[in-house]
Amino acid sequence: MINSNLVFEKQLKQNAHLFRLFLDTLTDAILLVDQSGKIVQLNRQTILMFGYESKKELIGKAVEILLPNQFKNAHQTHRSIFFEDAESQSLSNLFGKRKDSTTFPVEVNLAPLPLEKNTIFSVCIQDLSKYREAEEKLHQVTERLMLATQAANIGIWDWDIINNVLVWDNAMYALYGISENQFTGVYEAWEAGLHPEDKERSREEVQEALLEGKEFNTEFRVVWPDTSVHYIKAIAKIYYDTQGNAVRMVGTNWDITPLKIADKQIVENANRNKVFVEQAPSAIAMFDKQMRYLTISKQWLKDYQLKEENIIGRSHYEVFPGTKEELKAIYQECLQGAVNRRDEDGFERADGSIQWIKWEIRPWYNLDNQIGGILMFTEDISTRKQTEAELRRAKQLAEDANKAKSEFLTNMSHEIRTPMNAILGFSEVLYNTISDPIAKGHLETILTSGNTLLNLINDLLDLSKIESGRVEINPEAVNLPQLINDLQQLFATETAKKSLYLNIKVPMGFPQSLMMDKVRLKQILINLIGNAIKFTDAGGVTVQLALENFNRKQLLYGISIQVKDTGIGISPEYHKKIFESFWQVRTVLTKKNKGTGLGLAITKRLVELMGGNIHLQSALGRGCSFTLHFEDLPTSDEPIKQDASFDWNDKKVKFFHSKVLIVDDFPINQKLIKTYLKQYDLQLHVAENGVEAVKKASQVIPDIILMDLLMPEMNGEEALEVLRAQEITQTIPVIAFTASTSVNNPEKMLSKFDGILRKPTTRAELLRQLTRFLPNEIQMQNSVAESQTTALEHNIPKQGMEVNRTHLEALLSQFSQRSEALAEIVSLDDVSLFIEELSDFCTQHQLDYMTEYIRQLNNRYQEFDIHGISQQLTYFTPWVEEIFPKDSGL
Ligand code: ADP
Repeated sequence: MINSNLVFEKQLKQNAHLFRLFLDTLTDAILLVDQSGKIVQLNRQTILMFGYESKKELIGKAVEILLPNQFKNAHQTHRSIFFEDAESQSLSNLFGKRKDSTTFPVEVNLAPLPLEKNTIFSVCIQDLSKYREAEEKLHQVTERLMLATQAANIGIWDWDIINNVLVWDNAMYALYGISENQFTGVYEAWEAGLHPEDKERSREEVQEALLEGKEFNTEFRVVWPDTSVHYIKAIAKIYYDTQGNAVRMVGTNWDITPLKIADKQIVENANRNKVFVEQAPSAIAMFDKQMRYLTISKQWLKDYQLKEENIIGRSHYEVFPGTKEELKAIYQECLQGAVNRRDEDGFERADGSIQWIKWEIRPWYNLDNQIGGILMFTEDISTRKQTEAELRRAKQLAEDANKAKSEFLTNMSHEIRTPMNAILGFSEVLYNTISDPIAKGHLETILTSGNTLLNLINDLLDLSKIESGRVEINPEAVNLPQLINDLQQLFATETAKKSLYLNIKVPMGFPQSLMMDKVRLKQILINLIGNAIKFTDAGGVTVQLALENFNRKQLLYGISIQVKDTGIGISPEYHKKIFESFWQVRTVLTKKNKGTGLGLAITKRLVELMGGNIHLQSALGRGCSFTLHFEDLPTSDEPIKQDASFDWNDKKVKFFHSKVLIVDDFPINQKLIKTYLKQYDLQLHVAENGVEAVKKASQVIPDIILMDLLMPEMNGEEALEVLRAQEITQTIPVIAFTASTSVNNPEKMLSKFDGILRKPTTRAELLRQLTRFLPNEIQMQNSVAESQTTALEHNIPKQGMEVNRTHLEALLSQFSQRSEALAEIVSLDDVSLFIEELSDFCTQHQLDYMTEYIRQLNNRYQEFDIHGISQQLTYFTPWVEEIFPKDSGL
């Protein structure tokens, strides 16, 4: 019995040990608690979980030791109730307290263990810390995902395929423009929102994804209840059951409308560009990097005789197999970023003709700023080249013709002027030697017509010289205010006659010396002022100088000269025309105008030759204002040359046995000069050509030679060279005596000859040249004013002379001055006044010997022979002298 008891006891101990061991293997904390709440037993996990070192620390202690303080009281109450009911219970949301007083979440399972005497409870505690942490993390992740989907406007949907339940999150409603209660939560509700055109395709895509396992990644449009259309991008994942049947589909939606609009714009732009290129009026082609055609203009097809359907997508080298290596290299260069162009490039066509092309090749860049290929622009300039060549030919022809014209003109004028020289000269000589009035009348007509002809030739020559560019501008220092002042004097009689004013306005500080061609400037101003006076009957003319700008650095002036009148004016429609040759405004007002219509044409060309321009401002009846502008005029320190107003009619010349050699192949010219000079104390020699001239000069050693230029055998210039080379003739002055219009560069001529004498020449001109080189004596009339002459006494009635002697002298001297002024600028009205007053004067003082002079002048006036009048006026003083010898004291 004892044994069996012992065995039993041992057995019992054994079991209890095993039980403890078993408890210790469990991962939950297990406690046994008695009814008073004391811990009876516990496993190892408990001390680990609660941070104790040994079981002993807890055994026998109230179980509340393991609870946070705030739960202790409540726990004791619960424990009593629980012991009474004694049922198993699971308690969550509880907390445990470790030895170090830290707390942690726990789940507790209670189970009563009924024993014989009392009940104890097993308490199973699970540490929930890890679980709670994981839960927290999941919560955070979910929250973040929500935030992300919300921010990106991504909607999430979940479709239970078996039960056809479709669940949307809030973002989905917003994407479909509906509220939650408008959504029925089935697949069809989604389809209902799709754009009719996208419905079928989208359904198919869902089916393919479900049945064939295709990826669901698509785009479709949804139509909102307000009919607006929105683009949606959708992606989904499919879940399958164990049999491989799709049971669930979960996916996202988001709005891609802005992207789509941008895409559409890009496409539209591309299309527009394509149309633009296609319709461009020039040949344009766009290539990719492999030189395949992307776009071409219609003109490209036309220029290269291509058909469009063959081209796009094909390689350029395939379309043009003959492309030269040189060009290929250029294309490659451009594909690397270079821009190449050529203004003209010749290509041989199939038929052998040359096609001229102007081209430009440049790279084009894609959105990433990478070269996407090249653009070629070409222009067929064959027609232009041909036209250019024709124009060049035509220009050459015109230039040749113009040259021929100029040469013809030069020759003709030479041919005309030479005989005119003889005609006019001898008529003049004859006129002075014969007394038969009828013959004199005929001679006058000859002189008049000859001079008219000469004038016309001179004008035409002037114009044609300018036009053929043979007029050279020779700037010299000019005092412009002074020059205009002189002109004012020149026009004084004319303005006085018409009771017009002629004002000159010069601003302060206007430069006193500017480099300009004085002769040409004078010619221009005489013409403008002359016209202004001619076409003005009341008021007058103002010449206004203005300083427009001044370049201080280079001392260059910009000036304007305005000639303004209060005359009849010119209607704007004629403003251009009047600068054309031979053009005149024909109206009642201008019908008295005796001009040639060449004045303004010459003026304009001269102004332009001088680097200026001329502008007209005028309206009919409002006067005219011609303004000249000159830019960049240098100033000068050179002393201003005074015009040597050398008038032979004021002087009587005496020569002293000098020898003159006249060289001319035309006997009449020789004779004329001889006639002019016969009254002087001069020895005259004649030679017919250069050879003879050299011979004669070497023998005679003349004091001066008058050398014709154009002569047979040896011309004047050649003869001059020989003369200059010979010691004995080296220093003889040689005057060029020429009718040639080629004397357009007098400076060049004067670098060789000592002077120029133009044919036809007047006696005065001839004398002027001779006095430059031959010893002479010029006697001024005034210097001998005191002495009287018999001639005067004989020819003027004594009484008249005695009574009015001083008065008469003064008056004749006034006429003399007027005749000089008039001779320079002939104004018909003034001439008529002069004639009138002179004849009155002569009648009054019975100066009969002047009647013939007045008659001749009047004849020329009646013929409107300007040159003749001018010449006759220059005779006035000699005529008076002829009757009153120079020492007569007039
Ligand atoms: P013309 O020898 O006839 O004067 P121009 O070439 O000098 O030739 O002038 C051409 C025409 O321009 C004149 O005939 C006249 O009709 C007109 N014209 C020139 N200057 C003036 C002016 N100041 N007032 C009115 N008309 C003018």
